[in-house]
Amino acid sequence: PLVLGIETSCDETACAVVDGTGTVRAEAVLSQLDEHAPFGGVVPEIAARSHLEHVDRLMTRVMTQAGATYGELDGVAATAGPGLIGGVMVGLMTAKAVALAHGKPLLAVNHLAAHALTARLTDTVPFPYLLLLVSGGHCQILVVEAVDRFRRLGTTIDDAAGEAFDKVAKMLGLGYPGGPAVERWAARGNAGRFAFPRPLKGRPGCDFSFSGLKTAVRQAAESLPPGPFAEADLADLAAGFQAALIDSLGDRLEHGLQAFTASHPEGRHLVVAGGVAANSALRAALLARAEAHGLALVAPPPRLCTDNAVMVAWAGIERLRQGLIDPLDVAPRPRWPLDPHAPPAGGTRP
Ligand code: ATP
Ligand code: MG
Ligand code: FE
Repeated sequence: PLVLGIETSCDETACAVVDGTGTVRAEAVLSQLDEHAPFGGVVPEIAARSHLEHVDRLMTRVMTQAGATYGELDGVAATAGPGLIGGVMVGLMTAKAVALAHGKPLLAVNHLAAHALTARLTDTVPFPYLLLLVSGGHCQILVVEAVDRFRRLGTTIDDAAGEAFDKVAKMLGLGYPGGPAVERWAARGNAGRFAFPRPLKGRPGCDFSFSGLKTAVRQAAESLPPGPFAEADLADLAAGFQAALIDSLGDRLEHGLQAFTASHPEGRHLVVAGGVAANSALRAALLARAEAHGLALVAPPPRLCTDNAVMVAWAGIERLRQGLIDPLDVAPRPRWPLDPHAPPAGGTRP
């Protein structure tokens, strides 16, 4: 099938046309970074207005590049949540308009499911698989049992992993988004100079916490001489933070791996998804953990880890194949957990 995907849940306007073999016929991502930069974070009103201004042109462009007419599409997919409601409404309305005008199935995609299913576009990954979802707004361990069946083993009790990268980057004056900048500085730093904590390490369960680590980085930064950071200090702070965060993720994931291999012995894959999955130090650490449990690590190429519409189109194809078509009055959902029955962070399942 040939599916158009639209992503507008945060600060990227993105469109893509993907076919059933996983071939990307065309894609475009327009970042709003410059528009939000003066405010030090994403401003929802500005984001929604910008999506509205750009989405039609982007959609037309990818359709032209794909050499496809709307009539040739087998479905129209858009992120229907979770995310900033104004932006989600813009993308979903656009998809509804195309679906209605051309009589095509509408596919309302969960943005997190799109991150989660990307590995099945890039690699052969049958269900079930263990998923580490590390993005700007989420940090979770899930068992992916089917296109629309997720079982959450753990989540963060405070910050998401990407959020921690972004906050530390801001503290260090590295700008937004922080992940790529922190990774670059960390590559030439000494991770052992600052003794940063590994939150929750050694405790049972799969939940995460990063706020204590963030505070420790702040205190270390404040203990340095006033004025701009020396380059070596900046590199050591970034390296120490990144190493602690990855170590902490790995410790929590270890419990997830044990639970997964016990409950789903037929499972063969560990998948990492979301923007933080673009981090090469994290990917290296996960590879070792997966292999120790006899699992293959699947990490999509970095450009498919951060927000894009290829993953939305692909999730649409997966839904279409299962007959999971949505009515034209489907509502946008600012909150939309992958596992609606998961206990709160820190809780346990009955
Ligand atoms: P969500 O998917 O939870 O709704 P989002 O869509 O805003 O949130 P993504 O686009 O999936 O988030 O990921 C963006 C996050 O990934 C940012 O926090 C960014 O700092 C982080 N990130 C991107 N590249 C890297 C990297 N190389 N290392 C670490 N973090 C990274
Ligand atoms: Mg973004
Ligand atoms: Fe995302």
